[in-house]
Parts: sequence; structure tokens; C-alpha cells
Amino acid sequence: TEISSNLLPRSRRLLLLLNPFGGKGNALQWCQNHILPMITEADVSFNLIQTERQNHARELVQSISLDEWDGIVVISGDGLLHEVINGLMERPDWEEAVKMPLGILPCGSGNAVAAAINCSAGFEQVLGQELLTNCTLLLCHGAVSPLDLVSITTTSGTRVFSFLSVAWGFISDVDIESEKYRHMGPARFTLGTMVRLASLNIYRGRLSYLPALGCATHRPILRSITVAANGSLPFQRLPLHRTVSDMGLCEERQAFCYREMESAEEPTPSPSSPPSSSFQASNFSFESLSEVTVDKESQHADLPKVLPNQLPSARQMHGPLDDFLAPLEQPVPKSWVTVEDDFVLVLAIYQTHLGADLFTMPTAGFNDGLIHLCFVRAGVSRATMLRLFLAMEKGTHIDHENPYFTHLPVRAFRIEPLTHKGIITIDGERVEYGPIQGQIHHGIANLVTG
Ligand code: ADP
Ligand code: MG
Repeated sequence: TEISSNLLPRSRRLLLLLNPFGGKGNALQWCQNHILPMITEADVSFNLIQTERQNHARELVQSISLDEWDGIVVISGDGLLHEVINGLMERPDWEEAVKMPLGILPCGSGNAVAAAINCSAGFEQVLGQELLTNCTLLLCHGAVSPLDLVSITTTSGTRVFSFLSVAWGFISDVDIESEKYRHMGPARFTLGTMVRLASLNIYRGRLSYLPALGCATHRPILRSITVAANGSLPFQRLPLHRTVSDMGLCEERQAFCYREMESAEEPTPSPSSPPSSSFQASNFSFESLSEVTVDKESQHADLPKVLPNQLPSARQMHGPLDDFLAPLEQPVPKSWVTVEDDFVLVLAIYQTHLGADLFTMPTAGFNDGLIHLCFVRAGVSRATMLRLFLAMEKGTHIDHENPYFTHLPVRAFRIEPLTHKGIITIDGERVEYGPIQGQIHHGIANLVTG
């Protein structure tokens, strides 16, 4: 009867968006042969839509009714996921919309997020159809994890939400120049790297960033900090992206502070993490931390005040406030660090992988509230660069001591190119060249990670 069928648990309904031109152009074939048999077996119901052009998926998710779906899954590369996330963020109800669980089944040439999901599930690093099978299995399992997004502002004032990376120099050059080898699939990045190494370009620029206090280079992930000045109540609970130093809260120089762990386990401090990252549950003195400022009156003192005339235009009003950022045409806030130098590459990355076989940032997490800012300064030899990229497949490049290579966990960054010509990418897609800045928004989206 009608009543009993309503009482049955209904199967998950997924909206599948497939880019028939992703990667080598075999997404539809892989979908029919590998994906659909598995998800049908898992009792998932779905609608499959093939994208007809660029931005089709972006427009589509702007108008769908959210309660008809339990998830949106892209069957393509990272480019289509970028469209879906930005389409959702452009909705007036963005805050709810971006909570929609998002999945990715790797059928593109840039499959970084799929590789990150595969890695976080504990699977061995694999490529091609093996990666697709693992990810389909995880999608059927269906567990969802919060996902950090980074709000990026470009020279023209356009705001974009990014889940993977911002790159300038070597990496964005390879990504865009290797588009012409698209028919090779992911091997295009290897060939592109060799071509670029032969003529190593140098880019002058200013790089500014807001350092993250107590960099979480280990898991489990800190969810909130509870602080009480001088042990007095009431406690103030801060979400992770508002760390103690960001708030300038420690006027009493003594506080009780504890970390709410996702699990009861203590974190295993990684040998490379600085001392400030290993503060433990229980009593703890701020004096042991170097970056803390003592100032009660000026909470947010270094953060820009957003005045009505600085508010972005109505079209860009959607999305969370970028409270770490000053307008691009103004200097960065005082609490930021600026370096001016000649760079071979600058990379802000917030996933473990930059490609299916590029284990670029092994310490990154989907929801660690961190932007991992990396740069390689000019002077590095071609041989060292080659070694760096070869070691990246296994993620061992991070262990190599290298005076030209820097890695910093940050909450926000700004890149100001001084070299006139160059390529900047967001999530592997080329954007206008010029000053660009971004800040983390902790866990505002959801990713199906299995
Ligand atoms: P790949 O990893 O192979 O680059 P992506 O999913 O990143 O695959 O897609 C590449 C680009 O193709 C993205 O910028 C996306 O917006 C665009 N795109 C999506 N659907 C279509 C289509 N039907 N025709 C042309 N381009 C498309
Ligand atoms: Mg792509």
C-alpha cells in the first residue's frame, strides 16, 4: 500500500553530471561500464545529465531544487567540480546549498580531489580505472566529510570559491601549456613538466600571508578551542578558523585552553612540526607561543573593517564574509608577513594531491582549516626541481631539506606579481593575471569521502 512504501527507507538520489569531453573523452563509456553497474547494485537512484558546454553544470545547479537530491556527483575532472561549487555559492541560499554532499568520480585529466579521497580512505595510490573503481565504491558507501573552501578574489574583483589550489609560475605554466597534450590523459602533466624544466622561468613578486598559529600538521583535527582568561568563567568557544592569536584574546597571558579532539586519541606530533603545534589538552601558557599579541581592546584590530562603500557588488554578495582580507588595492593587514623575491613557483594548496600521481601535500586534510602555502625561490637547479617533482609521486619531497623550498600553513595569502607576463590558475583553471588573494572558510562544504 501507499503507507508501507512511505515507511521504507528510500534509496539515495544522486544527480550525476558527466562531462563527455573530460580527460581522454571516455567518461561516458567508463560511466556505463564501471560506474552505473556499481551504483545500481548499491541501490542508489540517479539522474544522469551530460554537460553540453562549459558552465552548463554551473548554471544547472543554480536552479535545481535542493531537497530533490541527496548529493551531486561530477563524473569528470576537477574542473566540473569547480563549476558545481561555484554554481551553488552563487545561489541566494548558498549557505544551505553548499552543504549538499558533493562527489567526484574521476574521468578527467586533473583528478586531484579523487586522489585525495582515495588516499584518505587508506587505499594505495592508483590511476585510471582503478582510481575510478575505488572512488565509486566510496561513493556507494556514502560517508560525508566537511570540506574547506578558499574564497579567492582576483584583480577585477571577481570572487571564486576554490577547493584545490592557486598556482603561479612553474605549476600553472605546466597545467595550461600541457592542455595541448590533452589526448595523452594524465601523462600530459609529466611531459609538460619536462618541457618546462628545459626553460625554467623566474617570476618576481610579493607574497604575503597570515600565518596559522599552532600549525596542525597532524591529525586528528582540532574543532574548537575553549579559552578563559585567567581561568575565570565564562569560557569562550572559538571555531578553529578564529584561533587565539587571530582574536588577540590573551591579555592575561594565562589561560586554560583545551582542544576538542575528533577522537579521544592524542595527536601524534610529526617530527617536522614546530613546537607550537604540540600544545596539549589542559593548562597552557600563551607565553610559550611566539606569535601571540597581547591586546584586549583591539580584537580584530589588524583585520580590515568592511565599510559599506567597500562591500562587493550585489552579484558577489553571496557567500561568507572574507574577514581576514583587506581590499586588494590596500596594503595587507599588519599581522601578515610579506616577502618580495624571485620565485620559480608559488602554490597555495589545500588538498593532499595536485593530480592523481602528485602527492604534493601529505599533511593536508579536507577540513584542517589550513591553506598550505609553498614556494620555490629562484636559484634552485633544474636537477633539484626534477628530483622534487619525481619525489612528489610518493610524497617524499617534503622530507628533503632544500633551502629553496618553503612550506607554511596559513589562513590567508596574497600574491602580487611584479613580472608582467605569466599564468595564474585556480583549481587548475586559468584566471586573469595580476594580484590575487584568498582566505580559508573552514568546513563550509561537504564532500562524499566514503
Ligand atoms: P579535465 O580534468 O580533463 O580537464 P574537467 O572536468 O576539468 O576535465 O573539464 C575541463 C573543462 O571542460 C572544464 O573547464 C569544464 O567546465 C569544461 N566542460 C564541461 N563540460 C563541457 C562540455 N560539454 N564541453 C566543453 N567543455 C566542457
Ligand atoms: Mg581540469
